[in-house]
Amino acid sequence: MRLFALAALTLLLLPCTAQATDLALTNATVYTQPDRPPLHDATILIHDTRIVAVGPTKSTKLPTTARIIDCTGLTITAGFWNSHVHFLPPQLLHADHQPPAVLNAQLQTMFTRWGFTTVFDVASPLSNTSNIRSQIEAGKLLGPHVLTVGDPFWVKTPVYVQRYLAEYNITMPEAHSIPEAVARVDRQIQDGADGIKIFAGSIEADHVELMPLDLARAIVAEAHRHNKLVFSHPSTIKGVELSLDAGVDILAHVTTDEAGESGTTWPPELVARMKAAHMSLVPTLTLFDVELQKGKASPEVTQQVIALAVSQLYAYASAGGQILFGTDIGYIDHYDTAEEFQLMSRAGMTFPQVLASLTTNPAQRFGYASRSGRITPGFDADLVILKSDPATDVTALSHVAYTIRNGQIIFNSQSPATQNSSQQPQ
Ligand SMILES: [Zn+2]
Repeated sequence: MRLFALAALTLLLLPCTAQATDLALTNATVYTQPDRPPLHDATILIHDTRIVAVGPTKSTKLPTTARIIDCTGLTITAGFWNSHVHFLPPQLLHADHQPPAVLNAQLQTMFTRWGFTTVFDVASPLSNTSNIRSQIEAGKLLGPHVLTVGDPFWVKTPVYVQRYLAEYNITMPEAHSIPEAVARVDRQIQDGADGIKIFAGSIEADHVELMPLDLARAIVAEAHRHNKLVFSHPSTIKGVELSLDAGVDILAHVTTDEAGESGTTWPPELVARMKAAHMSLVPTLTLFDVELQKGKASPEVTQQVIALAVSQLYAYASAGGQILFGTDIGYIDHYDTAEEFQLMSRAGMTFPQVLASLTTNPAQRFGYASRSGRITPGFDADLVILKSDPATDVTALSHVAYTIRNGQIIFNSQSPATQNSSQQPQ
């Protein structure tokens, strides 16, 4: 009897405890999903980690103790995904010895201040990314939900990676035989990898080293046996064809490098094959600008290569191919997302298409469509509050006021210092 009474008392107390974590975002313009017009003067109510209500501000009932953020003049979308990042900047390496303040500052600089609530790391040392992921999930760090492929599979380490590995005293293996590669796929998935990445074409000093097709096929088949998706770095059109022949799911870049020559746009037959194979594409257009500037290319050459990259995205997006937003940050240190949004617009993508590449497309592709990518009751409270409406200017997607993950404010532009933004909503 006493036990029963205690249980009843606990139940009575529960709503009080829970009220402390109600967060209401009021008077906002809300894009619940890319293919719907926005709600105006809308309120989103979050309870703990989930969205519990979305509706007109005047008719949405709020718990009296809810923390309220007045979002008048602000626009809210679902939290963004970045489907091509790396945990490679020195501040994120050797995470077991790195002070939390350093890790937090870097996670904010790269991810949360740009609205990313989920990121897919597509090649970094698996144990290090796993360490950071665990610290985020344990609440020790403020960061996005992290998915990772861990260590990549390449037959020869790309020339630009060789320098990096030597500088930071890191090793990443090469894949030389099918049995050894298949065993590593199994091991990495067992150790927590969410996908696998191959380099169909690996850029070397004077050529692009293609992965043998039988090796690529064996790696992809083993990943698929574990229900994991495979990314590919193609480098060239040959690399795209090899990726298609091997059964790859996601291209990590467009292609601009044909063995040292500038590439060509993707022919319709190639686009049709990619589409038929349900291949997704992460364009990473900004990367080419950054790399060419680093290589001191002339402005004319840089513009030609960007135009080529844009034309390939245009070819795939206009054919109805699935586009996943991604910028290769962590390899490049150009973290501002505005240029990528501008270039995606130049490739003919509309605001709803760009928003889909940030939200519903990756949620669908990576198996999170029932909980992520849209603003609807029951979904994860992963949200981006923007300073202005991106429907009229797509670069507004890079002007982030707040980033909220699992109902927690993980970035606040008004108190951007990490120690301030780590305050829990009260
Ligand atoms: Zn990359």
